[in-house]
Amino acid sequence: MDLSSQDIKYLPGVGPRKAELFNKELGINSAEDLLRHYPYKYVDRSRFYYLHEISEEMPFIQVKGHIIRFEKMGEGHAQRLTAWFTDGKNTIELLWFKGVKYALEKYHTKTEYVVFGKPSVFNGKFNIVHPEIEIASQLPPPEQMGLQPFYNTTEKMKSGFLNSKTIQKIIFPIVQHIKTGIPDTLPAYILQRFDLINLTDSLVNIHFPKNTELLNKARQRLKFEELFYIQLSILRIKNWREMQSKGFIFGEIGHYFNTFFTDYLPFELTGAQKRVLREIRIDVASGKQMNRLLQGDVGSGKTLVALMAMFMAIDNGYQACIMAPTEILATQHYATLKELLGNIGINVALLTGSTGKKERIILHEALANGTLNILIGTHALIEDTVQFANLGLVIIDEQHRFGVAQRAKLWKKNEQPPHILVMTATPIPRTLAMTLYGDLSVSVIDELPPGRKPILTYHYYENKRVSLNGFIAKQIEAGRQVYIVYPLIQESEKMDLQNVVAGFEYMCEVFPNYKVSMLHGKLKPKEKELQMQRFVSGETQLMVATTVIEVGVNVPNASVMIIESAQRFGLSQLHQLRGRVGRGAEQSYCILLTGFKLAADTRKRMEIMVRTNDGFEISEADLQLRGPGDIEGTQQSGMPFELKIASLAQDGKMLEIARNAAMEVLDDDPQLEKTENRVLAVQLRKMSTNSINWGFIS
Ligand code: ADP
Ligand code: MG
Repeated sequence: MDLSSQDIKYLPGVGPRKAELFNKELGINSAEDLLRHYPYKYVDRSRFYYLHEISEEMPFIQVKGHIIRFEKMGEGHAQRLTAWFTDGKNTIELLWFKGVKYALEKYHTKTEYVVFGKPSVFNGKFNIVHPEIEIASQLPPPEQMGLQPFYNTTEKMKSGFLNSKTIQKIIFPIVQHIKTGIPDTLPAYILQRFDLINLTDSLVNIHFPKNTELLNKARQRLKFEELFYIQLSILRIKNWREMQSKGFIFGEIGHYFNTFFTDYLPFELTGAQKRVLREIRIDVASGKQMNRLLQGDVGSGKTLVALMAMFMAIDNGYQACIMAPTEILATQHYATLKELLGNIGINVALLTGSTGKKERIILHEALANGTLNILIGTHALIEDTVQFANLGLVIIDEQHRFGVAQRAKLWKKNEQPPHILVMTATPIPRTLAMTLYGDLSVSVIDELPPGRKPILTYHYYENKRVSLNGFIAKQIEAGRQVYIVYPLIQESEKMDLQNVVAGFEYMCEVFPNYKVSMLHGKLKPKEKELQMQRFVSGETQLMVATTVIEVGVNVPNASVMIIESAQRFGLSQLHQLRGRVGRGAEQSYCILLTGFKLAADTRKRMEIMVRTNDGFEISEADLQLRGPGDIEGTQQSGMPFELKIASLAQDGKMLEIARNAAMEVLDDDPQLEKTENRVLAVQLRKMSTNSINWGFIS
């Protein structure tokens, strides 16, 4: 029977109410879904412990013995039950705060029990709260109990009597049923080549492992399968798009590129910049549409690469645009490009939410008749009224700020899609890039322009504020400028804004001789621009701001970044903020201010920041600390799939193997038509019916 069409409602021990819970809480509908609901951990019940062996670190213990006596205390809600349990030599307390009456009726002194649970220490004595208790004579011998699976449930499920134990009981007969063998979801040649066990054995052992070795083999196989299919679907889309969409051909390296290179370029390109430009050049001359992700740490010089890529478009008669996530950033790009371009003869314009109506009309016309070469802007660029004559290249800066849908809109601006270069200063761990951006080609700028001094980072507690003020004064006396950044999140927006304003007033008070700018999202666009301009021009020495200054802002003279309540920022955000300094030749500093009381992982974040300036190292650490779901950059676009068993933090090697395997399969059989690959096509179709539209992931 096909397990995927077997409704769980009719399985023993399920019924309509539990079936609904399974469906609503975990999306489980069929017997197959249940089989694919893997345990999240196992507990070794293959041996009994003695009470003298207990330590607090043990997640679970299993002890055989007797209850000596019971004692009930309190009444009503406050009542609790204590039972003293002995293994013959030592005793431990068993505790109930709920189900006291039930426990008193069910358990007795004289019966030999097996008690199972998590030991904890209270008042110097070990106890187990709400233990699992079974009559010893009714249990199989421990060596047959083996590893017990634990399943994820939700609060709602638990109150509907669907706990891990019940799930285990429901899954048990299904597993018995498949023991005779079910069709595999991977071709035999792949199993053989990667030394994987078959699907039947994997599913049996993932739920009820005979031993640790078989459990590990089952995990290997199921992880591989998961990663392999994700890669297979990503790569198929990539292949499909490459076949479908012809790209504009920028065949010439022409007048503008050469003139800029010889007469305008203010410095020697770094080796990494040159390499990336070569990669882009090959793409845009290939006749296929470019879809490239450019990763480069803050300050690595991505803007220049973007500009030179735009010359390739313009030299071949095409227009180009840059889309930035904020008005400040778009404006800054515009100013930078204007300056770099001098009077080379290229028309650039800026389009944002605050562009006036009259200006807009002129701009639209210049765009439509092709006299405008480069358009820079915010997402105002993707409004339907904006029509290009011949858009050849789209550059998206700090792309994680754009939703997938917004980007998709740009794709469709032309009959033939433009080349696309996505730039991000939030380096993404390799494994994440391979999955989130697995259909893009990736370029990396892994070298900073010469002469940069590494930023020195310190973690201070708030009591250092006064001496910090002394340091600020010294820096400003030396001609530098200073950022002070406050967190701002939606949930506590009001309080956060108050903090920024208070911080601003404090700075004005402490430094009456200096001028202070303030910048936050609630200011009017004109006011924001004014505040920013005053800081950029050096009229103000201090900038008190929220994270609106997080991305892109370039004030090389700013040498100190102070981050207030640093514990409230994620690692990559801290790194982004730090990247606002260290852009000039002077020694720069980043000060992370926190209170004394810090959670362990916060402390770790601070340590990592102090230790390294390497964005890739930081993003890896972030992935390990928080898991891929929380990595910045994935929150908005979201993870396009859910991993049930593999982990992007831990299974990087296997991911690489799976990706290569998928590539080889597709190279050999792009349409998956060969008999042995038919199962792959079937599984892919199954996946695509219950998942997202991969076509728009980029
Ligand atoms: P990113 O956008 O990658 O954070 P930018 O493009 O803003 O970095 O560059 C940071 C600074 O480095 C800018 O002031 C830029 O002019 C400068 N820069 C870029 N490339 C080079 C280079 N090859 N040599 C020296 N300075 C460079
Ligand atoms: Mg930039």
